[in-house]
Amino acid sequence: MSHPPRIVLVATSHPGNIGATARAMKTMGLGELHLVAPACFPDPQASAMAAGADDILEHACVHADLPAALAGCHWVAGLSARPRYISGPTLSARTGAEAVVQRPATERAALVFGRERTGLTNAELDLCHVRINIPANPDYGSLNLAAAVQVMAYEWRMAAGGFDDAVPTGANETLASAAMLSSFYEHLEEVLAEIGFLDRGNPRYLMRRLRRLFNRAQMEPDEVNILRGMLSAIQGGRTRRPGGADGRDV
Ligand code: SAH
Repeated sequence: MSHPPRIVLVATSHPGNIGATARAMKTMGLGELHLVAPACFPDPQASAMAAGADDILEHACVHADLPAALAGCHWVAGLSARPRYISGPTLSARTGAEAVVQRPATERAALVFGRERTGLTNAELDLCHVRINIPANPDYGSLNLAAAVQVMAYEWRMAAGGFDDAVPTGANETLASAAMLSSFYEHLEEVLAEIGFLDRGNPRYLMRRLRRLFNRAQMEPDEVNILRGMLSAIQGGRTRRPGGADGRDV
């Protein structure tokens, strides 16, 4: 497993962006922040925007220039919002993050972010092995500095396999059985015929369309039971279905 990348901010003017960067990093499990000649740091605005990620600010290292901030690093990527004439290889945010994760564990990687107004200079980009661009609106492609850090931190975290306790996707819920769905579709067809919505002599594609609709929902047993209950209520309890008190397949 490769090391988490170092985040380097070059000549940041607004201390709030440094705090917001610390917050963005911490949400994705990054911790190593290096600052090159920040205009104001430490600063109360940085702490305010860090919102609980103050530990990252406290441990942040301040340097006079970019080479000093890259000491100990092997693979360096410069984040750039715009194409320049003399350009080296450019990766997207996603492929760039994958490249970080693929570096050997013996190496350290750095992601370098530029000034709010003018980005990174060509001399600074020349210190980088690759350039990374976050694909964005061609007419308005410059993200806020901390937002750019957030995107890269997120992409790195995803490329590194996400968090173990990821939000459940619901994919583990038990689906209603095929038999339960068949009974439901039969019941539905019966009710639609009873209320005159479905003409059994000319059914067209109604039942197929409804099956497609309900199949997309990937219903759980409880959900099918609710719909069966609704159908029974529509029938007013008049019609008893074969195979059980109300025909439910539970
Ligand atoms: N006007 C500057 C943009 C600075 S935004 C310019 O054109 O370079 C501040 C920093 O955020 C940039 O230096 C870069 O590191 C990062 N950033 C913003 N938008 C980005 C994007 N679409 N792709 C990559 N990095 C971006």
